[in-house]
Amino acid sequence: MNTSFDPAEQIQNLLQFGEFGGVNPSITDSSTFTFLDPVTMTETFLGHTEGCFLYSRHWNPSNKYLADALAAMEGTENAWITASGMAAITCAILQLCNSGDHLITSVTTYGGTFAFLSNYLPKFNISVSFVDITDIDSIKQAIRPNTKLIYTETVTNPLLQISDIPVLSDIAREHGITLMVDNTFIPMAVSPARLGADIVVYSLTKFINGKNDCIAGAICGTNDFIDALSNVKNGTAMLLGPVLDPLRSSGILKNLHTLHIRMKQHSHNAMTMAKGLQKLGVKVIYPGLPSHPQHELFCTMVNPGYGYGGMMAIDVETVEKANELMGMMQAEGVGYLAVSLGYFKTLFSNSGRSTSSEVPKEVQQKMGLSEGLVRFSIGLDNNIDKSLMKVRYCLTNLRII
Ligand code: PLP
Repeated sequence: MNTSFDPAEQIQNLLQFGEFGGVNPSITDSSTFTFLDPVTMTETFLGHTEGCFLYSRHWNPSNKYLADALAAMEGTENAWITASGMAAITCAILQLCNSGDHLITSVTTYGGTFAFLSNYLPKFNISVSFVDITDIDSIKQAIRPNTKLIYTETVTNPLLQISDIPVLSDIAREHGITLMVDNTFIPMAVSPARLGADIVVYSLTKFINGKNDCIAGAICGTNDFIDALSNVKNGTAMLLGPVLDPLRSSGILKNLHTLHIRMKQHSHNAMTMAKGLQKLGVKVIYPGLPSHPQHELFCTMVNPGYGYGGMMAIDVETVEKANELMGMMQAEGVGYLAVSLGYFKTLFSNSGRSTSSEVPKEVQQKMGLSEGLVRFSIGLDNNIDKSLMKVRYCLTNLRII
């Protein structure tokens, strides 16, 4: 277990005040900024001034507060805030990879990311090898002289496989390759940069904001990488321009301060639900269960005290059963039939027909994605045993168990 680092404490140690001493940093709702001296403006465009703001697509003080808090949480030098998780992923990849480059990715990855890697990157002559991220030999074999990047998710969407970040980091370092990790499913409980990832990306839309009221993302990395992303001449984030509105980032920053409490409750509830359903004979995938193939590895990667996260899945074998079950669970008040995750209510969806529908059927089958897989983002229910009873009622009523 990774004992030396507490992400919540890193955030708590930050002293971020409003300009009039407000306990929350002030919201800067300005797209542009004045300069007292024209020379400073020129210097800022050249990237030579620290702490000067020139235009909100470049940097905004509200986004900087959130970026600083996320960098503290991850233990990275810096961070950059984007208007979506996909903007974070695509900007970071396009910043790193040029025409002619190659990257290796887990085949099991969020459907939007899969679509970007498989359908969009070929436009730029960037080639992609899709591998089973738990098969280290297949990763080593996929490395080519032009491999720039290994991309994976800490806990993969939707199969909840665990990426061995320390081992991937060793392989990447040995070959001069960058390791980028999407940690959206398990913030705080795992700190990928502390385990050797070079870049950590997030959909803030999910657990970090936790309210499902906005779309946002972040890229955490070195000062050099964040400076390169925001370079006015050739920075991908600066030039593609997916900047988050400062009002939204100030809201996310406030929600970030309760993330540690929420993650503990999500984890507790998911563990109770996973154990309870497994006892009933349901096929459960949850990395906190000893039956999960990478459970022991996961135990060595988690920060103590946050549990194993709020994401779990069950396999009811057919789409028809999955659809009946989800409809009934919604009617019984278990939660909502909805995509996305990290919400205070439980959300569930049939991955193969929703958030992984971009992945061709034959690839879904090859990676072991059952058409009856129902992915759950377990909510903050005060009485999770009651919710477990409701799920049990639905499963029995539909003769799934
Ligand atoms: N990464 C993961 C693991 C996701 O599940 C998602 C969306 O579901 C994204 C990235 C994309 O995030 P966003 O919807 O904020 O663009």
